[in-house]
Amino acid sequence: MKYVDYERPTSLKSALDILSEKGDVTKIMAGGTDILVKLRVRSEQPDLLMDSKEIPELNELSFNHDTGLTIGAAVPLYKLYADADVKKYYPALVDSTTIIGGIPIQGRATVGGNLCNSAPSADSIPTLIVLGATASIQSSGKLREVPVSEFCTGPGSNVLKSNEMLVTINVPAPADNSAAHYMRFIPRNEMDIAVVGVGSYVKLNASGDKFESVNVSLASVAPTPLNVTEISKFLSGKDVNDENIEKAGQLAKEASKPISDMRGTAEYRQHLCSVLTKRSINKSIERIKGA
Ligand SMILES: Cc1cc2nc3c(=O)[nH]c(=O)nc-3n(C[C@H](O)[C@H](O)[C@H](O)COP(=O)(O)OP(=O)(O)OC[C@H]3O[C@@H](n4cnc5c(N)ncnc54)[C@H](O)[C@@H]3O)c2cc1C
Repeated sequence: MKYVDYERPTSLKSALDILSEKGDVTKIMAGGTDILVKLRVRSEQPDLLMDSKEIPELNELSFNHDTGLTIGAAVPLYKLYADADVKKYYPALVDSTTIIGGIPIQGRATVGGNLCNSAPSADSIPTLIVLGATASIQSSGKLREVPVSEFCTGPGSNVLKSNEMLVTINVPAPADNSAAHYMRFIPRNEMDIAVVGVGSYVKLNASGDKFESVNVSLASVAPTPLNVTEISKFLSGKDVNDENIEKAGQLAKEASKPISDMRGTAEYRQHLCSVLTKRSINKSIERIKGA
């Protein structure tokens, strides 16, 4: 491992000053569960590691019935999934964060780091996409909001510039008659990355027999997490029945662009897209109906 300088700013302003001066040779660290591994194998070789855990804005975790959920980029997973509002209003975030690594990883790792690491297999990103989350990104003097669905640009790459950092992830308030769900398939029961992951969000009409909107996002089947817009177009206004949900599974399969690797062939992954999409949509419906 190369020697690196270490900074631990205690204000957002100090952090942004560091990035405007040395952003091109700096890597930001939240929990460190991705970046420290990359330093060790030298796939990243910054001169400076900037620890973000002491920056107050990045530690915010708050819920408001009108504005929704704010997740600071340095909030560890264990705090997020133990939060009473997250459990009640955003169970899909609990689905996706309680399966990242094991307990020791969840004590350090963050959703912010999961998003900024931008792995196609990242478990929290499909959930953020289907919930319509946005990323608040700041540089000295400039704040911009980017939908999470547009954040990742390739495996390990995203829209962040070297002088910018993710400050918060903002998830809209839950709508009536809506729920979301995340599930993945892995070869072992734990401590592996998704062969396929599926996040779904369903909003039904007041009587619960028609889809108003459905969002589906897939992990591990393309260079970036996929937002399957064809499913929302197809299901909006349609009856809630097995035939329509079957078709949604088929659309997920057709939208996927998987590769074959040691975890599974492309054909196997496409089959899983169909199966898991149907299951996840049904789980979201069950949640709406209070099961
Ligand atoms: C044993 C093990 C098991 C794992 N299992 C899973 C799993 O099941 N599912 C899964 O999705 N992942 C898994 N991971 C990967 C990793 O734990 C997650 O991606 C985690 O959420 C990363 O969060 P972090 O806070 O540790 O990120 P860090 O390692 O601190 O950072 C990750 C990346 O984000 C950048 N970054 C961090 N914060 C900011 C910011 N505020 N602004 C801009 N850039 C920033 C860093 O520079 C780095 O490039 C696993 C890792 C290990 C070691």
